[in-house]
Amino acid sequence: MHPWLGRLIVNFVLCLICFIAYSSQIFIIWPWYGGVLSIELISLLLPFNLLVGMLLWNYFLCVITDPGQVPDTWRPDTHSDGYEVKKLTGEPRYCRMCDRYKPPRAHHCRTCDRCVLRMDHHCPWINNCVGHHNYGYFLRFLFYVDLSCSYHLTMVTRRVFHTMGGRYWDEPSSVELVFTILNYVACTPVLLAVGAFSVYHLYCLLGNTTTIEGWEKDKVATMVRRGKLQEVKFPYNLGRKKNIESVLGKNMFLWCWPIAAPGNGLKYELAEGDAFDGSVSWPPRDPSTYNTDGPQNEFVLPSSPWTYENGSINPSLEPYNSQRRSAARRRPQRLTAGVSSLPPYHPDYQEGTEAMLEGSDEESSGEDDVLRKPLVRAGSEGYEVRPVDRDDLLRRYLTDLGEQPGRYHRYIPTPDSESDSEDDDVTLAEAIAKRQ
Ligand SMILES: [Zn+2]
Ligand SMILES: [Zn+2]
Repeated sequence: MHPWLGRLIVNFVLCLICFIAYSSQIFIIWPWYGGVLSIELISLLLPFNLLVGMLLWNYFLCVITDPGQVPDTWRPDTHSDGYEVKKLTGEPRYCRMCDRYKPPRAHHCRTCDRCVLRMDHHCPWINNCVGHHNYGYFLRFLFYVDLSCSYHLTMVTRRVFHTMGGRYWDEPSSVELVFTILNYVACTPVLLAVGAFSVYHLYCLLGNTTTIEGWEKDKVATMVRRGKLQEVKFPYNLGRKKNIESVLGKNMFLWCWPIAAPGNGLKYELAEGDAFDGSVSWPPRDPSTYNTDGPQNEFVLPSSPWTYENGSINPSLEPYNSQRRSAARRRPQRLTAGVSSLPPYHPDYQEGTEAMLEGSDEESSGEDDVLRKPLVRAGSEGYEVRPVDRDDLLRRYLTDLGEQPGRYHRYIPTPDSESDSEDDDVTLAEAIAKRQ
């Protein structure tokens, strides 16, 4: 994404937040309370402004906080408990684009063009990745958007209901009316969209799963369903309370307060259990994409359903005649080099060239059909071409063929040894008469 576009989106989000938050107070609530600062008005607007303040603060932190990048010197720890290498992946994870090792749960973000610790997703609305260091702020931001929007809609709806059952001086002015409609139009979709997104992220938080890991889990579930894999427990699921603590901090009273994320994002606690005995990796690989028993035991699915002896197809199998006919009909009348459908004595026959029948209909593929049709050579359009005399053609062809040197051993009768060369022109009758 272009950097300017990202900034533009962030500014748009800020404008939207400010419009919903402040236009409702200035143009709807303030006139409703008669334009006088009262305890009632303050008690209505103070909580709302606090919510909006928290929302903006968390949004700001989401945008400016680096989600976490892999330090230059970071190497997978293969000597100590080996969490990152032996148990989780089997081999060190490496990012070829960044040219460095990947810590567990880190992924490469194409938009940011670098690896991001505990990457969740790249969010265009904050023009930043959501990763280890700002995931907490992101969740709090969603939470305050939900609360603020709900508070806002309740407030505006109360104003509307008050009008409906109210007295004539309570009726809203046209400005109020316009802003009421605009506030509904702006706030309702935001609450619906962010609300649905919040429910999903609450579910992820309770399972200590990132969006990417959610996809991995779906993939694993599919493989288990298809019988390719045994059930694999997600290694980071520590139990609900610990899962929330791993993102929002140990102190429950500060979960809604924007505090920095616990940990450095390079190492994560793993669930204890029998499943993690060193042989389990996450995400588990699809067994059909790699071979565990060596190449000699590799099972390769045959490309054809027909098997005949050692993987070859039955040689006596032939397509149906009707199938062959239709295939021949579909095939253009293109012939291979040196082979022509025309007989060699035909005037259009050209040896060694790829013959293509012009305008041949599907039905007239036979030799006789070709000959029956009046043929028009390229360049002779408009001239009458006489029909081909087949016998004449054959005769001429055979004559030509006979004249080719070395093609036939010709029988040339040797002259009689007795007769002289002068006698050649003498007729038979004269010769007989001579001899006598
Ligand atoms: Zn990378
Ligand atoms: Zn990113």
